[in-house]
Amino acid sequence: MKAIVMHEYGGPEVLRYEDVPNPKPRQDQVLVRVKACALNHLDVWVRKGTTKSPLPHIPGSDVAGEIVEIGEWVTGFKPGQRVLLAPMTFCNHCEACTAGRQNECPEYSVLGNRVNGGDCELIAVPPVNVIPIPDTLGFNEAASVPLVFVTAWHMLVGRANLRPGQTVLVLGANSGVGIAGIQVAKLFNATVIATAGDDRKAEGARKLGADYVINHYTQKISEEVRRITNKRGVDIVMEHVGNATWEESVKSLKNAGTLVTCGATTGPEVGIDLRFVYSRQLSILGSYMGTMGELNQVLKLVFDGKLKPVMDRAFPLKEANAAHEYLEKSQMFGKVVLNP
Ligand SMILES: [Zn+2]
Repeated sequence: MKAIVMHEYGGPEVLRYEDVPNPKPRQDQVLVRVKACALNHLDVWVRKGTTKSPLPHIPGSDVAGEIVEIGEWVTGFKPGQRVLLAPMTFCNHCEACTAGRQNECPEYSVLGNRVNGGDCELIAVPPVNVIPIPDTLGFNEAASVPLVFVTAWHMLVGRANLRPGQTVLVLGANSGVGIAGIQVAKLFNATVIATAGDDRKAEGARKLGADYVINHYTQKISEEVRRITNKRGVDIVMEHVGNATWEESVKSLKNAGTLVTCGATTGPEVGIDLRFVYSRQLSILGSYMGTMGELNQVLKLVFDGKLKPVMDRAFPLKEANAAHEYLEKSQMFGKVVLNP
């Protein structure tokens, strides 16, 4: 089969389109023909070697496709079935996994990070990862869902305990997590303040339901938040930008507010004034992907049309390097997808 293979870490040029042997599914696995694999910012970290995936490596976390072959120990699926893959790997037998908290598993990882992923034509996975999709959902749309929606759901619902009517600040509205976050927050009738880098992205955020949009290049986020909330601040800040916005994000919180973070796109080193944290009783929470239960909850809402995947653009698999360059320019609104 054809696959995107990295033999070294580096720029987009290390993504090589090559022939590799077809994976042979074990008796306890399902073989899936990849129709679409969406990019995430994680793909950039994997490519640069930040996460130290063993080489050679096939990246790609968000897969949608069709079942080709079913191992003899697997029941409940049929060839030709349209599916998406849960974008995580875990042991499925430790205390955390059996309690349904897979993202606390010592072996937890993201598909395509440290284990080979879906930037290829065929992938063999355990049946626990295989989730049938409705015929109404296209492969590109299906691939645009799993990682960002489970991440946004775990951040806002699982970690920050979002309740109806709260005010949420969503950083980076054009990113996959931002797009999912705005929609999840609106499901709870939250007031959503989003940030975006230009008018086109701001318009996209408003269409998804954002009540207010701040331009994070030309406006000071915390000042705008104070103006919008009558000096009160927001209940929850959804962070994934890191260094560039951290200070403004913390300043935007109301007393006893919660900042939840799942990433550090612009850099992981940030400062924090502890006097703010204790005197204003702030909660600062980390969040990593989500559980299988949360994935299934959020997928049901997608399948019912209550949450909508947003795709920006598809590239042929062999142009993965061009897709990475496009992603890194951050000009997209929605997911960038590869088609084998
Ligand atoms: Zn486990």
